[in-house]
Amino acid sequence: MEKKLQGQIAIITGASSGIGAGVSKALAAAGATVVVNYPVEAAKAAAEAVMEEIKSSAGLGITYQCDVSKEGEVQKMFADVIAQFGTVDILVNNAGLQRDSPFQDMTLEQWNTVLGVNLTGQFLCAREAIREFLKRGVVPEKSKAAGKIICMSSVHEVIPWGGHANYATSKGGIMQLMKSIAQEFAPYKIRVNSIGPGAIKTPINHTAWETPAAEKKLLELIPYNRVGVVEDIGAAAVWLASDDSDYVTGITLFVDGGMTLYPGFSTNG
Ligand code: NAD
Repeated sequence: MEKKLQGQIAIITGASSGIGAGVSKALAAAGATVVVNYPVEAAKAAAEAVMEEIKSSAGLGITYQCDVSKEGEVQKMFADVIAQFGTVDILVNNAGLQRDSPFQDMTLEQWNTVLGVNLTGQFLCAREAIREFLKRGVVPEKSKAAGKIICMSSVHEVIPWGGHANYATSKGGIMQLMKSIAQEFAPYKIRVNSIGPGAIKTPINHTAWETPAAEKKLLELIPYNRVGVVEDIGAAAVWLASDDSDYVTGITLFVDGGMTLYPGFSTNG
């Protein structure tokens, strides 16, 4: 297999489970050296299991503990990775969480936790990546771009989500963060894009698919009639990180089986 990301260094945040783990494996299989980030000691063993699987397929990388909502920890992660590997070429801003609540009962802590990780975390990591990309510039043997940022957004950057106002707000914010920095740094050959997953089977949404009844209900929202898997997102991430998408910046690539096509309107309205 052609290794489209050979020799490139990729940080994937929130990579000890779900989409982040799947993206780490896909980028490593494409030749990138991956930094599998996890937030707390309790997630260390899971991150190491992801890394073991990567190494068993001759992939390269390390695990790294860092809470992306904390400025000092993010700056230290980038400094340590650059000291160890020389640079960072790809950032996958994936870490995210939910703290769901009816709006009238939502606490400030639930609001701040989701915005702090999902949106401020993406800002802090993107800022460190941009600083490094600007400092280094293009290295033609590695990539046509000086760096690539992939923001893990959601269909909820465009689909409102009652009971999840904090989460949907964070994803709407990611859309404007992504587009604004894509516009600002395109002249420096830095590409910034988002992936907007639909329903992907991971721990974050297990109640939505783990029983046949729940999965059937979920499928009503998915014209393509299957729930997504992390490999669907991994393939999109490899494409957005590689020179195959060199003329693509400032977009959200929805990987959602048609969830954003408003399937309720196919038989009504
Ligand atoms: P997940 O819960 O398996 O993964 C989220 C990861 O983020 C976890 O590994 C967690 O440890 C990590 N994390 C949480 N707080 C962190 C912090 N402060 N610092 C660093 N890491 C932290 O769920 P997932 O579905 O794999 O979610 C990954 C991303 O995909 C999220 O941004 C989520 O919003 C997005 N997404 C998922 C779906 C889906 O259907 N699964 C759909 C749309 C968007």
